[in-house]
Amino acid sequence: MDTFDAAVVGAGPAGITAALYLVRSGRSVILFEKLTPGGQVLLTDAMENYPGFPKGIKGWELADAFNAHLEGLAVTRSTADVTGIAGQAGAFELATSAGPVGAKTVVVASGARHRQLGLEGEDRLRGRGVSYCAICDGNFFRGLPVAVVGGGNSALEESLYLSKIVSKLYLVHRRDEFRGAGVYQDRIRQCPNVELVLSSTVESLNGDPDLKSVTVKSRKDGSTRELAVDGLFVFVGTLPNAEFVPEACARDKGGFLVTDVEMRTSVPGIFAAGDVRSKLCRQVVTAAGDGATAAQAANLLLEELHA
Ligand code: NAP
Repeated sequence: MDTFDAAVVGAGPAGITAALYLVRSGRSVILFEKLTPGGQVLLTDAMENYPGFPKGIKGWELADAFNAHLEGLAVTRSTADVTGIAGQAGAFELATSAGPVGAKTVVVASGARHRQLGLEGEDRLRGRGVSYCAICDGNFFRGLPVAVVGGGNSALEESLYLSKIVSKLYLVHRRDEFRGAGVYQDRIRQCPNVELVLSSTVESLNGDPDLKSVTVKSRKDGSTRELAVDGLFVFVGTLPNAEFVPEACARDKGGFLVTDVEMRTSVPGIFAAGDVRSKLCRQVVTAAGDGATAAQAANLLLEELHA
């Protein structure tokens, strides 16, 4: 079994930054990435709030630039699926789809995924009208009416992207006020083909085999309305990709990993960085910061272990 100073699980901005800092500290590193490096940045149209790019940068371009930074450095890359972590600081064993891997420290940077609405037919209609990624699927709905559900940054950002493609967009949100950034709210309100359906929830998904409409219900007066749409894009929050992390690592009520300010989880030797971590601000810039901090803390622990 190969053993590394650090195993970094996830190759989004947090994981790539952690790997970069660790390898530059002279540590041996294995970086696990699912399919392509970049994480959720790849699913983002344009990044407007990453410092240094006042005109914005495409998500894929930033992901490419992160990845290029690792090229030429002695980081072992693996696309194996990590399914478990056993052992203790200085001697962890990761169960992976390519067999066991040893690591003295682990940085969990496995990110988060979009939550489902939990409505009947949601699984059946996934790929048949229901989507969780505007960049991936928006083009299938060119010139057609769609609905977006959610009121956070994802829902607003993805609605802005979709509004340029679709004929009509209903933005359905359960409250009157959005959670997402004011700058996006202002732009959404200026889109002529966006209709806000506020204080409303999606009650049912209609259509077989493909989505034909959604029924929304007003939370104010209980009235219902059927929106004829070919697509429904769901952005109602995220779930942490932390199923493989030992139960001994403390979680918050949403299942996100709790860390101290140095990214240490409650299990010595296991660090968490980026969206998988319990925190207020989920941004690329904070993910990169978490990754750097986790790497420094892991490096310090390795020194203490004389590893
Ligand atoms: P989020 O900020 O947690 O927002 C989720 C939204 O979905 C909320 O508006 C919530 O309503 C609504 N919601 C939750 N459960 C619902 C349900 N069952 N039915 C209907 N609506 C429901 O999630 P997110 O937008 O996916 O963003 C995740 C994190 O990534 C956030 O920290 C966000 O700031 C960050 N992010 C940042 C950017 C950016 O800065 N450009 C872009 C994307 C994401 P309530 O408001 O009523 O709770």
